[in-house]
Amino acid sequence: MPMTTIDELFEHNLKDMYGAEQRLLEALDEMTSETIDADARKAFQQHRKETQNQIKRLDRVFKSLDMKAEAQPCPGLEGLIKEKKSLSKEKPSDEILSFYNLHAAQKVERYEITAYEGLIEAAEHLGLDEAVKQLSQNLEEEEATLNKLKALASEYDVEDLRSQEEGEEEEEMATVGGRRRRS
Ligand code: FE
Ligand code: FE
Repeated sequence: MPMTTIDELFEHNLKDMYGAEQRLLEALDEMTSETIDADARKAFQQHRKETQNQIKRLDRVFKSLDMKAEAQPCPGLEGLIKEKKSLSKEKPSDEILSFYNLHAAQKVERYEITAYEGLIEAAEHLGLDEAVKQLSQNLEEEEATLNKLKALASEYDVEDLRSQEEGEEEEEMATVGGRRRRS
């Protein structure tokens, strides 16, 4: 049957996000185990906890609609996960992979933010107050996570990850307080 109503579209997108959030529990664990930076690991694990709560909020949305909670595969998120994994072909060092994961995770948060914005807009049109409330809480967490990941990436100590001309390193680097800094 052709889809003709925003109600049906909303349900489709809701199942999609329900599948995406569940898939993300696994992806966040994987990124944590690959990442050597302690702050990034902590951020991934904290967001994993939040993701468990987000799934519970989606359960409440299904319940408020008298629907059985049902997950659907989310090809958009699968694509982002596939893209993230494609770096392994380049055999990245642990340090490079840690830095890269902070950006791969930001792409996921941006995807989720756009998905939740669309769901909230539809729920508002449909007068689904409980759904708007639950989905808005999820959106807030995704936005806060994006900002935290952005801060972690911009503060990341990339000094050792920069390519150096031979011999130049000794000339340009000085040891300050046990930490290498550009002189
Ligand atoms: Fe999420
Ligand atoms: Fe998220």
